[in-house]
Amino acid sequence: MSKFLAIGKYSIGMGDRFGRQARAQLRACIRAAAEGVDVVPVWNKSNREHVIIGSEPRQSRAAAEAAVKALKWNKPYFVDADHIGLETVERYLPHADFFTIDVAEWIGQAAPAEAGRRFVERHRELEGEIEAPGIGRPIEMERAGVERIVNKYYLAAREAGKIYRHIAQAKGAGNFVTEVSMDETDTAQTPAELLVILAALGDEGIPLQTIAPKFTGRFNKGVDYDGDVEQFEKEFKEDLAVIGLAVKQYGFPPGLKLSVHSGSDKYSIYGPIRRALRQFEAGLHVKTAGTTWLEEVIGLASAGGEGLAVAQDVYAGALEHIDELCGPYAAVLDIDRGRLPSAATVRGWTAEQFVAAARHDGKNPAYNRDARQLLHVGYKIAAKMGRRYLDALEEYKETVGRNVTENLYERHIKPLYLAKD
Ligand SMILES: [Zn+2]
Repeated sequence: MSKFLAIGKYSIGMGDRFGRQARAQLRACIRAAAEGVDVVPVWNKSNREHVIIGSEPRQSRAAAEAAVKALKWNKPYFVDADHIGLETVERYLPHADFFTIDVAEWIGQAAPAEAGRRFVERHRELEGEIEAPGIGRPIEMERAGVERIVNKYYLAAREAGKIYRHIAQAKGAGNFVTEVSMDETDTAQTPAELLVILAALGDEGIPLQTIAPKFTGRFNKGVDYDGDVEQFEKEFKEDLAVIGLAVKQYGFPPGLKLSVHSGSDKYSIYGPIRRALRQFEAGLHVKTAGTTWLEEVIGLASAGGEGLAVAQDVYAGALEHIDELCGPYAAVLDIDRGRLPSAATVRGWTAEQFVAAARHDGKNPAYNRDARQLLHVGYKIAAKMGRRYLDALEEYKETVGRNVTENLYERHIKPLYLAKD
């Protein structure tokens, strides 16, 4: 292969639902670079987000390029076709150079018996005690376990191969970054499962650069990690060890790394993640999408006047359409409806009250994680506002932009990639 487009060690996925924050987002990476750490910006937008907003992948590309040009960013950047499948990838092909192949819906569909048997024969290295440097003990596998796992993931891996080859045919191999995601499913994948999945993806010949398993615990939208942090840390390290094994064994690009689809703001696991990366000298991709949209709302609210009125109306509209908005995100929300303030209450709030409720600050007693989750899925209301919402973003762009940059840099990039401990 003459050319191979590599993602780099540290990268951050950023979502820009209305296509107005690319500069503010890029400024966060510029700040990291000024501190001596390269964090590659990746603008991600799922098909689901495009459909809800009514936007097109070419707009994401245009917004990213405009920001890169305006701020004279001369390092790599990417546009991610996030969570695509064969039926949704087409319109992304000319505009994306990072593809997140989502095969979660294929998990658990039984593999043809012959295929499973052949896999087990081909991968005898997966049986027994597998030395995994860095976690203090081997990963134990038995033949029956390998068979059970491959049966569960075989069709998902095969579908990933099909989608990868479809993209490669259109774009040329080596001209794009490939991620495979399995995070949008109900049960977490164990490190042993991850190893078998990687073996199967290796069989498909996918030059995988990032993989997004479902980690243990809940990754609810807009709020902190909900789960056992110690267990997460243990499995995360095991996953890193598995990645190291897979690179050697299955010929993946040496930079292969985990991708954490954060659903925004998983602050309590950022420290454990950073320390694990140091220990394994590993890279990472972290996707944040809705956290930027929430900063738009917070920025608007903090400006007062029409900005605050727009934020209040977004909340009121979201509350009115709560079932419709939460539907597509049911697996990643945990809203206690009894703790949601009424529309009238929120319309009576000052700018400070709105910001205190919506901003993710667990130490502030006024922070309301239920209202924040509702706002997180409420972007369709802003999309329906059309001109009014976009005009407000324009009018208050400095306040909004400051919040967007600050949030990505201080609350995400810094604790993940820059903190020293
Ligand atoms: Zn995801």
